Amino acid sequence: MSSLHQRHLAVSPDWLALYYKRPLEITHGEGRHVWDADGRRYLDFFGGILTTMTAHALPEVTKAVAEQAGRIIHTSTLYLNRPMTELAERVVTLSGIPDARVFFTTSGTEANDTALLLATAYRRSNQILAMRNSYHGRSFSAVSITGNNAWSPTSLSPLQTLYVHGGVRTRGPYAHLGDAEFIEACVADLEDLLGHTRTPAALIAEPIQGVGGFTSPPDGLYAAFRRVLDRHGVLWISDEVQTGWGRSGEHFWGWQAHGENGPPDILTFAKGIGNGMSIGGVVARAEVMNCLDANSISTFGGSPVTMAAGLANLSYLLEHDLQGNARRVGGLLIERLRAIGAGAEWVREVRGRGLMIGIELAKPGTDEAAPEAAAAVLEAAREGGLLIGKGGGHDTSVLRIAPPLSLTIPEAEEGAGILAEALRSLG
Ligand code: PMP
Repeated sequence: MSSLHQRHLAVSPDWLALYYKRPLEITHGEGRHVWDADGRRYLDFFGGILTTMTAHALPEVTKAVAEQAGRIIHTSTLYLNRPMTELAERVVTLSGIPDARVFFTTSGTEANDTALLLATAYRRSNQILAMRNSYHGRSFSAVSITGNNAWSPTSLSPLQTLYVHGGVRTRGPYAHLGDAEFIEACVADLEDLLGHTRTPAALIAEPIQGVGGFTSPPDGLYAAFRRVLDRHGVLWISDEVQTGWGRSGEHFWGWQAHGENGPPDILTFAKGIGNGMSIGGVVARAEVMNCLDANSISTFGGSPVTMAAGLANLSYLLEHDLQGNARRVGGLLIERLRAIGAGAEWVREVRGRGLMIGIELAKPGTDEAAPEAAAAVLEAAREGGLLIGKGGGHDTSVLRIAPPLSLTIPEAEEGAGILAEALRSLG
């Protein structure tokens, strides 16, 4: 055990779990690569859980942060803040929500907290609809709407949460149904819930479940939900912490795969926009955003130094069409991984969109989850020089692949080759 690991264990909570038997100390990065304290280089297919959106050590972001830090890092939310207003203007336009307002936070968890504060105050109801297998953060209220049991076992929820079917297409009681029938069954489930409860404040959903294993319902599910929610006066919150900023290649936001009945009432984002700087945020129609009347929520959201990073990062993303890159390179990578998966007996399914790709493992010849196999592939990939993530429902059997959006085709090929080798090591 390294001495840093020992020191970490002595002072950190036991539940602050680290990846790998020999945890990694990452000392620096560049592009799609990071280096550990021993000087070993890794191709990064996880981007620090999707936080490195464009590239590691992107010079444009580094320069913007250094310049802003040299002027002022942060004051509070009490003063005018040019970078914050500029980034808010861009997010308003990009969000697709009419008459939108933005409030910046420092994390996705806090963004979802704020969304819950807004929705419950707006509807005067503490009842929330969330999706089974969902993940929305681990603060007291965010964990209360997290349906993934692996993450919420100790939650003593302050909210009254009801879980809806539909976030996961490939497992569960409706998995055998075709797309249209699946949507119909989930809508019937939602109607049934709404028929037997007070009016909930909102339904919160990740368009593609992230921690839950990069799994999504058929396109149009949330549009169908929206019709029902509108009838009952229930708000739709789209948690875009993982799906935002073009990662899926096809859409800038995940909700756009479900947008035929309009955008969500509230959208939350985080992770990638800061390229590693702590930015989260919530966007809502002015009418919803303005239902609170005390000042601010935290003194930290929107600090000029994080906003400068966000602005530089967003400009780079848009100017270099990284959404298009995610579509092209991600499409090739998915194809390549499907071909590898077809010959690998532990692979149950390769799924994904753009650069958000899940490889679900199962015990050969069965449908049974294989968390030990997923852990073994994670280790083997690391040995091969590739960092990936894992996730999934209650069983963590899904390998998660979400590289920075500037991934090149040779890097995609190289990573796929390392993964193929890691899967072969399962025997
Ligand atoms: N929502 C989703 C969909 C997430 O994946 C996460 C983090 N994995 C969060 C919210 C919480 O974000 P943060 O870690 O920035 O608090």
